[in-house]
Amino acid sequence: MAKWVYLFKEGKADMKNLLGGKGANLAEMTNLGLPIPQGFTVTTEACTDYYNNNKTISDEIKGQIFDALRNLEEQQGKKFGDTENPLLVSVRSGARASMPGMMDTILNLGLNDVAVEGFAKKTGNSRFAYDSYRRFIQMFSDVVMEISKSKFERVLDEIKEKKGVHYDNDLTAEDLKDVIAQFKALYREEKGTDFPQEPAEQLIEAITAVFRSWDNPRAIYYRRMNDIPGDWGTAVNVQAMVFGNMGDTSGTGVAFTRNPSTGEAKIYGEYLINAQGEDVVAGIRTPQPITRLHEDMPEVYDEFMRIANLLEEHYKDMQDMEFTIEDKKLYFLQTRNGKRTAAAALKIACDLVDEGKITKEEAVKRIDAKSLDQLLHPAFDQAALKAATPIGSALPASPGAAAGRVYFTADEAKEHHDQGERVILVRLETSPEDIEGMHASEGILTVRGGMTSHAAVVARGMGTCCVSGCGEIKINEEAKYFTLGGETIKEGDYISLDGSTGKIYVGDLPTEEATISGNFDRLMQWADEIRTLKVRTNADTPEDAANAVKFGAEGIGLCRTEHMFFNEDRIPKIRKMILSKTVEAREAALEELIPFQKGDFKGIYEAMEGRPVTIRFLDPPLHEFVPTNEEDIKELANDMGLTVEEVKATCDSLHEFNPMMGHRGCRLAVTYPEIAKMQTRAVMEAAIEVKNEKGYDIVPEIMIPLVGEKRELKFVKDVVVETAEKVIAEYGSDIKYMVGTMIEIPRACLLANEIAEEAEFFSFGTNDLTQMTFGFSRDDAGKFLDSYYSNKIYESDPFARLDQEGIGQLVQMAAEKGRSTSPNLKLGICGEHGGDPSTIEFCHKVGLNYVSCSPYRVPIARLAAAQAVLNNK
Ligand code: ADP
Ligand code: MG
Ligand code: MG
Repeated sequence: MAKWVYLFKEGKADMKNLLGGKGANLAEMTNLGLPIPQGFTVTTEACTDYYNNNKTISDEIKGQIFDALRNLEEQQGKKFGDTENPLLVSVRSGARASMPGMMDTILNLGLNDVAVEGFAKKTGNSRFAYDSYRRFIQMFSDVVMEISKSKFERVLDEIKEKKGVHYDNDLTAEDLKDVIAQFKALYREEKGTDFPQEPAEQLIEAITAVFRSWDNPRAIYYRRMNDIPGDWGTAVNVQAMVFGNMGDTSGTGVAFTRNPSTGEAKIYGEYLINAQGEDVVAGIRTPQPITRLHEDMPEVYDEFMRIANLLEEHYKDMQDMEFTIEDKKLYFLQTRNGKRTAAAALKIACDLVDEGKITKEEAVKRIDAKSLDQLLHPAFDQAALKAATPIGSALPASPGAAAGRVYFTADEAKEHHDQGERVILVRLETSPEDIEGMHASEGILTVRGGMTSHAAVVARGMGTCCVSGCGEIKINEEAKYFTLGGETIKEGDYISLDGSTGKIYVGDLPTEEATISGNFDRLMQWADEIRTLKVRTNADTPEDAANAVKFGAEGIGLCRTEHMFFNEDRIPKIRKMILSKTVEAREAALEELIPFQKGDFKGIYEAMEGRPVTIRFLDPPLHEFVPTNEEDIKELANDMGLTVEEVKATCDSLHEFNPMMGHRGCRLAVTYPEIAKMQTRAVMEAAIEVKNEKGYDIVPEIMIPLVGEKRELKFVKDVVVETAEKVIAEYGSDIKYMVGTMIEIPRACLLANEIAEEAEFFSFGTNDLTQMTFGFSRDDAGKFLDSYYSNKIYESDPFARLDQEGIGQLVQMAAEKGRSTSPNLKLGICGEHGGDPSTIEFCHKVGLNYVSCSPYRVPIARLAAAQAVLNNK
């Protein structure tokens, strides 16, 4: 018989896959002898079984759950549903990777109308007993029965108002009995049945709800954002309750062993007296800093610090801990490696190396490569920042410089972001439903909540700037404005947030480029020592190229030449070329383009200081260059001595039914070899001149796009070679050059051994390769991908993350076939995927020589390439 349920004392930290992160760490802490309320974990495999089994929990699993429950009862000396001394439990989700707030937790389970009386008598605290029961009804109804939380909140608010009190914990036992009666009535009204009184039924329903919550929309979204596979499932932890809501010598809190925002090596945390569970995170009352505990309950503080230090020593990483104090007795409820900003991650990793706790390799492995993105974005321009006066300030919950237009709901933030605006989400407090809107925002500003509030935790996880707990804000969500520091900010107005200082400014403050220094630079050096993959950049201009070099690019993997033609002073010339009726006229028009293109190439070669540069020849269909508005058409007709009708007719003739698969790529050079001639001349003249002027040893790499057949490549290559040799002879130069191709058509992968006879290098153009293999275009995929995610057909966007199962096979096959012809064939990737860490690991495994990505992703790629080595040792 399979084992579906583990007591905490039966597990350990390395059983995360089976027990989930929370369960494995509760087991580990139990074995370390720490004060952990005991319990058991229903495994992730049981969750998978539930989904495979038509969403039901099998009798075998139920049997093991009740066995473990009996064991817990004995150990606690309490009985489930007992009228004298009832056992109460929490039911907590816990997946392999932590997904804070994405799934649901139920507290105080096991209470019913009679058990609550016993519980009141046993604890001698009936206010507390009824408070626990009303919380349970509320959570159970929300999580298990999906009755909206706000309906219960309304009942509670009405009673608080009637009694003239401000906080929940000002209500008396009698008030709470009233609340419970109304809650139960509400439940009956919503569900048509009474609130379930049988604890065993409550338990199975709650466990089922946690399993079900694995597939709720916000969990699916979170997984997609964080590359967490949908088939992992969640474990469920059932744990004896301890109570932070028993009075003024009780409380609950959250703490980090180091500052999760800056990385500073100092305990960082918050707690609330007389509170339970999510009260701290939900920002209902403003919590106290953990250092205050030193004054409130010194022994508890000392014990807390002892355990916190022990946990960090044990896990050798910054810990994020949840704890509860029940009448001066401290319990730990959770520990995990804490989420942190990229800046904090770098500082903590470097500090741990300096403290001798981890090696450089471990430090490199620890940093989430994608998170570096946060550090590469611009910061506020220092001069502008000094000149501006803040209208207020609050907690610097997640660093970054954000400026944008204010919106008051997550939906509106998302909507305006999708229309291309930069947005700032301003909320009283955020909740898990807001996740998409938060993701769409440049920055988040909340009125309530501390450094560990939902907004702060989620924002840090996403690398989004967040300023939280700005109590001075008077917000009117309905009328869509707020006031702060004497200013009134309406929906759509610009504000700027500094997530590192917590300051709030009116207007759209300018920003400046990021640089790599300090801990960041140190870690990058370590990564460079480890990695074997080279990292190049995709850059079309000298500015981008120079920026990428600053970030560590070792060459250009893709320089697109068509962008050079869209400039105002150039587009008329390419239009002239397109409209020319004879080869001679076309050549004459192209002749005029050479100086421009050559100038661009010279700028790029100079910026790259002798590093390799791959230049792709003209790729897009010609219709992208022709005018569409009447005025431009007239001007062009005038220029060329044609009638407007003639110009229109030519433009119309360029219309294609499916431009993605039309007259583009090397097909342009096959029909108009003079385009390839002109581009070759520009590339070669520029290279020779920069080589002569600056002494760089330049070897231009000319890349022919969209090849699917060897003879096609040979045809274009012959044109290139003939022209290049001519230019070399004209200059009397000894320059070398290479001709290669982009592999982006499935047929090219199948016949890569033949194509390699004509190519000196391959560069995988995985954008087109993905489009052509999946059979849908990147620009149209947005219309249906959402339905694919929600129906669990795809888990991620194949244009963002390489489909290793399908496209990966093609890449691997082409690499092997190509090298079978030409063992030293140089291989690279230059699609969007080149900056995605999981794709980079794949490229490392199949033996590519380099990846190429946008300048801002170069540091991410350097780190990911090092991690690929460490993960595949
Ligand atoms: P999340 O994964 O969203 O953090 P948790 O399962 O950690 O959810 O539960 C949230 C909070 O509920 C905990 O931080 C803790 O304060 C409270 N809680 C959970 N289980 C217990 C318990 N057995 N006793 C007391 N409080 C608990
Ligand atoms: Mg938790
Ligand atoms: Mg392409």
